[in-house]
Amino acid sequence: GQRQTININESLYATLVILGHKMREKQVTLEKSLDPQLPLLESSCSGLNQIWTNILDNAIDAVPEHGRIRVRTWAESEHDGKGVPTLCVTIEDDGPGIPLEVQPHIFDPFYTTKPVGVGTGLGLGIVYRIVESFGGTIRFSSVPGNTTFFVRIPAQLLDQ
Ligand code: ADP
Ligand code: MG
Repeated sequence: GQRQTININESLYATLVILGHKMREKQVTLEKSLDPQLPLLESSCSGLNQIWTNILDNAIDAVPEHGRIRVRTWAESEHDGKGVPTLCVTIEDDGPGIPLEVQPHIFDPFYTTKPVGVGTGLGLGIVYRIVESFGGTIRFSSVPGNTTFFVRIPAQLLDQ
């Protein structure tokens, strides 16, 4: 598609508004620490909001009533050695964590630990594909009481 200039913070805000109802139902406390100086993302890819939607949707499912979700953005300058900053986003929740035996499968399409009709198992598979299309990476760490998804996206793909 067309090359676009995207503000990742705004993309996160838009997603958080959409998920606001589900968060309020569970009385989730949301902590945002979005870097106001975050460089813009230039890309011809689409689907950025879907990344945040799918990760946050899982986080809201995971947290207890009055749980806590933290969203952070920052830039790492010239991390790739080509003068292009890397845009970093973490989404963290205080849910029970992803069991060790579940962890290797979470990005597999149709893998879900949720009851039939609740989970499709597609969320993180889609996330993985979209992050890849932006030339980015995703990883996570999870222990009981803290799950953190860590997305890194180069502000530009130089060969595009
Ligand atoms: P779905 O949400 O439909 O189950 P996903 O692909 O979004 O499918 O997630 C796959 C699985 O990864 C979930 O069923 C759950 O077991 C696990 N998971 C994802 N995010 C979290 C999280 N924040 N806390 C605990 N488990 C998680
Ligand atoms: Mg999901």
